[in-house]
Amino acid sequence: MGNNLIEYCKTCLNPSTRPNTFFNREGLCPVCVYERNKRAESIDWEERRQEILHIKKWGQENTGSTYDCIVTVSGGKDSTRQAFFTKDELGMNPLLVSCLYPPEQLTKRGAYNISNLIETGFDCLSISLDPLKWKALMRHGFIQFGNHLRSCEMALYAIPIHVAIAYKIPLLFYGENPALTIGEKHGRLDGDAIEMQEGNTIKGGPESLNFGEGTPQDYHFYEYPTYDDMKNANLRIVYLGYYIQDWYGHKNAEFAMSKGLITRTDLPQDIGDLWGFSCLDEEFTIVNQFLKYHKLGFGRVTDQVCEAIHQGMITRSEAVDLVKKYDGACAEKYISMFCDYIEITLDEFWCHVDKITNKDLFEHVNGKWQPKFEVK
Ligand SMILES: [Zn+2]
Repeated sequence: MGNNLIEYCKTCLNPSTRPNTFFNREGLCPVCVYERNKRAESIDWEERRQEILHIKKWGQENTGSTYDCIVTVSGGKDSTRQAFFTKDELGMNPLLVSCLYPPEQLTKRGAYNISNLIETGFDCLSISLDPLKWKALMRHGFIQFGNHLRSCEMALYAIPIHVAIAYKIPLLFYGENPALTIGEKHGRLDGDAIEMQEGNTIKGGPESLNFGEGTPQDYHFYEYPTYDDMKNANLRIVYLGYYIQDWYGHKNAEFAMSKGLITRTDLPQDIGDLWGFSCLDEEFTIVNQFLKYHKLGFGRVTDQVCEAIHQGMITRSEAVDLVKKYDGACAEKYISMFCDYIEITLDEFWCHVDKITNKDLFEHVNGKWQPKFEVK
């Protein structure tokens, strides 16, 4: 079926169906261009070091608190790396901020990891949101958009900003610039994250969810503070990954595991994840990646192999095999858990899958959606 329903980057496997991505005339995605520049040593790391030290100084001069920066954490590999980087490498005094999943959603592994991170010597402010509204929003997101994580992402991004304004800590660190790691361009191609709220899935805030219940006050922490509030608070939001030369999944996982992080032992054919060190604190991301695969023709395995190609861990043809085998995989048990959680039946779930599946990319064969596109 040698068609090109999906174009792939010539050197990695970034797909043309990724939202907000673009290939250059050579057929390369933005990540490959960035990585090529990095290899050609056209990136001056000493200059970046000086830049982040300036940012640190700015944070210390402009804080109205005893903390000089905020690091958003989930207790996973990336946030663990960032927390230690600000404290040990930059010599800063970070306040960690986390939004905890409701107990029904948070895994034991996730609870352990965040506790473990705090116990290594950090102050952490954790915010828990009303689990009933949380769940209602997830259910609504699934039914309306086939994406139950949109509301969660809104809260995860907005909460640290509310905290920054309330505690007068204007410097916030986030992990990675999606334009540089997965080639999804929301804002600028550097360490500045101030335009992050334009991100594909969180754009528009709670209003964009068309959720008819409740008043805006009910969704305070899902909503970004206004642009004026952010401006008046003199916020500076920075992607820390941009300043760390060996910032990538495996390195971050290796570092976090040396600090006690517990990862998954599940198999790739069950979780659509090759390495088992992402999204450790809950299981419904696995279902979300499965849904994304049906909408866009790629899931987490595609992201992972692209990074692995860039790190020289696998070849492009090995990547093709892995994507064909595992991308979009999701064991029945996660789907059942998800349906139990948002209180729908399995039939309703599959009905929605049929609805959201991209019929240009998939066809129904023997009761299953099979890709019409060829990964190559
Ligand atoms: Zn590429």
